[in-house]
Amino acid sequence: MKEQTIYAPSTAIGGAIAVVRVSGADSKTIAKELLSRNIVKTPNRLCFVKLLDGGNVIDVCMAVFMAAPQTYTGEDMLEIHCHGGMQSVQAVLSVLSKTGARPAENGEFSKRAFLNGKMDLSQAEAVMDIINADASQSLKAALLQHEGSVKNKVNAVENLLLDALSGINAAIDYPDEAEEDAYAALPQSLLSAQEQIDGLIVGGREGRILRDGLKIAIIGKPNVGKSSLLNALIGRERAIVTASAGTTRDTIEEKLSLGGYPVRIVDTAGIRQGADEAELIGIDRAKQAMEQADIVLLVLDGSKNIDAADIELLRATQSKVRLIVANKSDLPKAEVDADIHISARTGEGLEQLQQAILKKATPSSIDCSAITNERHLHALEQAATSLAHAQKAGELDCIATDIRDALHHLGGITGTDIDSKTLDLIFQNFCVGK
Ligand code: GDP
Repeated sequence: MKEQTIYAPSTAIGGAIAVVRVSGADSKTIAKELLSRNIVKTPNRLCFVKLLDGGNVIDVCMAVFMAAPQTYTGEDMLEIHCHGGMQSVQAVLSVLSKTGARPAENGEFSKRAFLNGKMDLSQAEAVMDIINADASQSLKAALLQHEGSVKNKVNAVENLLLDALSGINAAIDYPDEAEEDAYAALPQSLLSAQEQIDGLIVGGREGRILRDGLKIAIIGKPNVGKSSLLNALIGRERAIVTASAGTTRDTIEEKLSLGGYPVRIVDTAGIRQGADEAELIGIDRAKQAMEQADIVLLVLDGSKNIDAADIELLRATQSKVRLIVANKSDLPKAEVDADIHISARTGEGLEQLQQAILKKATPSSIDCSAITNERHLHALEQAATSLAHAQKAGELDCIATDIRDALHHLGGITGTDIDSKTLDLIFQNFCVGK
């Protein structure tokens, strides 16, 4: 069935220029109908054109026609680079709506690219990771994935398993000749597949940081300077800083990039006894943030001796990866035993704190080609379970079933074996126009 031609703006409204994309078999006709020149004859060339609605000029713009299959979606595509104002973009969309094309759904261009075999699912998902990357290392990882780093690794395991499966099938079909060979080769191929998957899972647990960010929780009594530290780290005023205890009632999450790594930093409500109800909710969230954090920054007031509440927090964070940070080093120092002394006010020690966080909380080197996507990691874990099962199964047909299960999970990563509902869910998270 011929897919309906779709269109959508691919740029956010408000810039000087907006790009409106059209994809589908009608792109050619649309280009000929709406543009003052026939640009279909000169594909892949950006041409100066007038955009017409009947006899009226809607905009003067640049446009390019790209012929299938060498396009992003694999279909004929038209890109109109019009003026970026709301009115101009609306006018372009309105004239397109009269052509029989329809507005694209979220991620529909990438979905078509996937369905037309321009990229596998992991590569399509990397497109959104590229757009969302908020640190240089995350971008590097997303670009590698877009180039096929995940696809290639998964394909390598799939090939091993497909070989094993064809050996088993031969043994089942021709038991006399092939059974012994199949049994002899199986343990080795299953073991290498398992080892490769395990390696991907281990790398992926570390690689997750590249996509989701390193989670840092700032913990400490009220008024030690947690909000001030957050502000100093993100370089602007985000959390409300006041001199009275208990202002930060909820948790505040900020994203920043530390040494090229994405970081999600949470400033929590001051943990203290005797708080009112609203504050108690905040304190509860603080404890949750602490549980979920990759690293806890326990902030103490370095100008005061530690008290029972500090000791309680030192005890509560003992089992966490943590840094004890004595703040307010610009004031006369009290006897505080900390990993690092800083002043959120003057910025003293902040550079060392950032280095210490990276050293303590990130693996010595994160492989940017590691699996970074939680969905992929989950599928790998399921494939690993099926293979562990296969290695324990005795009968060839049971082993074959487990191998097929593993292949099914791996196929979910690359999209060779995925149901349409899951596919829709994945692309729903994309932006319109991508
Ligand atoms: P929080 O309750 O832990 O979030 O603490 P805030 O960040 O709201 O700070 C409490 C008070 O300590 C405010 O009056 C800040 O100006 C002050 N403060 C924070 N950091 C420093 C610092 O490094 N030096 C000094 N002298 N005061 C600070």
